[in-house]
Amino acid sequence: MSTIDEIRNRLDIVDIISESVKLRRSGKNYTGFCPFHANTRTPAFVVFPDSGSWRCFGECNEGGDLFQYVMKKEGVDFKEALKMLADRAGIQLEPLTPQKKERNERVDHLRKLLEEAIMFYRNQLINSEPGKLARTYLREKRGIKPETEEAWELGYAPKGWDAVLNYFKSKGYPISDIVEAGLLTERQDGKVYDRFRHRIMIPIRDMSGQMTGFGGRVLDPEDVPKFINSPQSILFDKSSILYGLDKARRAIRSENQAVIVEGYFDVIVVHQEGFQNVVSPMGTALTEIQIRMLKRFTRRLTLALDPDAAGQKATLKGLEVAREALDHNSDPIFDARGLIHYESRLQADLRVCTLPDELDPDEIVIQDPKLWEQIIQKAQPIIYHVLESLTEGQDLDDPKVKSTIAAQILPLVKDVANPIERDAYRQQIARILKIDERVLLDAASHSNRPRKYKKQSPHSEEQPAHTAKLEFNEQGKINMIERGILAYLLKKPESKYKINRFLRSNKLDQLTITDFSSSENQHIIQIIFDSLSQGDLDPLDFIAEKVEDETFLKELEQPEPSKSSEEELKNTDLRELEESARMIMQARQLSVNQQIRDFRFMQTSQEEEGNNDQGVIHQERLLDLIKKRGLLDHALSKPVIIQ
Ligand SMILES: [Zn+2]
Repeated sequence: MSTIDEIRNRLDIVDIISESVKLRRSGKNYTGFCPFHANTRTPAFVVFPDSGSWRCFGECNEGGDLFQYVMKKEGVDFKEALKMLADRAGIQLEPLTPQKKERNERVDHLRKLLEEAIMFYRNQLINSEPGKLARTYLREKRGIKPETEEAWELGYAPKGWDAVLNYFKSKGYPISDIVEAGLLTERQDGKVYDRFRHRIMIPIRDMSGQMTGFGGRVLDPEDVPKFINSPQSILFDKSSILYGLDKARRAIRSENQAVIVEGYFDVIVVHQEGFQNVVSPMGTALTEIQIRMLKRFTRRLTLALDPDAAGQKATLKGLEVAREALDHNSDPIFDARGLIHYESRLQADLRVCTLPDELDPDEIVIQDPKLWEQIIQKAQPIIYHVLESLTEGQDLDDPKVKSTIAAQILPLVKDVANPIERDAYRQQIARILKIDERVLLDAASHSNRPRKYKKQSPHSEEQPAHTAKLEFNEQGKINMIERGILAYLLKKPESKYKINRFLRSNKLDQLTITDFSSSENQHIIQIIFDSLSQGDLDPLDFIAEKVEDETFLKELEQPEPSKSSEEELKNTDLRELEESARMIMQARQLSVNQQIRDFRFMQTSQEEEGNNDQGVIHQERLLDLIKKRGLLDHALSKPVIIQ
């Protein structure tokens, strides 16, 4: 029996669901009000104990098994639901090695110590004289309400050097434990003292709500640094924690968007004001691990960055500088290049929104919650954001300014993996900088700098260049074919109908704009289609009018074939038509092959991550692609004949 079946056997779906839904017996089954949509009239939610499943027949029209219920209810992914339910069923998912067991026990022990530290710091905040100062600061300077302060377990670390030390010693904890939990700092000579002194204490929990460490903010403006965190330890690794995610995950999933802010107080106050999909990477640029974590809940990630020195502007003064800084292990908050790289690789949708000058997220949301919503809605892709920041206040008629901006933005565009997006960015940049798009393309190919690869073996050194070349050739080939099809259809738009008839007779889909990969090619085919669906002009005149102010279309115009006898001309026409139909199938074949490779890659990588829950859908789509490929292969194996 599989572990999953074992869990299903041991747990009762009715027991578990009735913890969150009031269920009434109805024959063999149970009914109640659906916990996933607001309703008070019809109990549209049914639990079927026999099949171990549930379904909402109301608004949601969704259902599933116990795992899906827990995933939806707790806002977790399959892996995590499995872990939670295995725990509950008392089933060990993987056998523990003695080392792992020891480490787990150690982590548990230190976590208990940290939970106790929360109580200590809270007691100081509420009951001590200096704690009052901290409370006043939170209320008056930050607008944090008492219930918020309690919900986020804020505390106060007293001024002395040994308050925490003495407290935990009196509780019987060995000093080594207090040091390892990150509450004491050890000097070279072995003496220890309180790490956090006269600071507001912010407990940092991981995404499942487990204690990992603290952030401490100064109360005395003279003290530096403004924030300190717990040191790196077996509990605390700030590159893999997002502050507030334990409280934000459900909202992130239900709203299908995560908003990333810079500070702890931004998270706390924005949550307080009703926007619960907000988290913070603690004073660092978003890491790949953090993006992966968020991607379990949504792929739409929006960065709301403070306009201050630590934020966008300083970094944007020179992206080169930011990249240097990254090499030197400092922590820029906004690293456009890194983010675009992750965005492409992780298939996330990363956007940036610009906050009004001098205002932080917490200030905006307290002043005007509506404004916060508007700002988040206006978030734009990273490249547009960078472009806007670079062009702000610049004289765009100055050729020097143009070329400086182009030089900074083009490397970012080059890193965008999706060719359609890349083209769209280039077009937009060309528009804003008022230059010809082809100039940008040239500039981009010149800015090809040699990349540094780690040399391990002669093979690994050759590999990347080889792959890159293949990719280029394939994409170049597809583009060439597409251009050929367009050149023909620009001259003979009405041939679309003949081509479609031919495609249909081979059980192939009609020609659509998705047969073209780059956005400019899609743009052209759209003009051709439009020329056929309008009734005011002859299609060729319509095209000519549209082409007039779009210079890049002119490249496509080919010399007319020299006219000879009528019979011969007819033959040439037909051959061209047949050749175009063949090219359409060829382009599709290349693209289907590419999609199949992408699917296989995705499947493998998901299997590696243990994410098999989407396997069925993928399998279906893959089969669909393979079927398409079969039809294309067959049609291409014989001569194309159009009557
Ligand atoms: Zn429902």
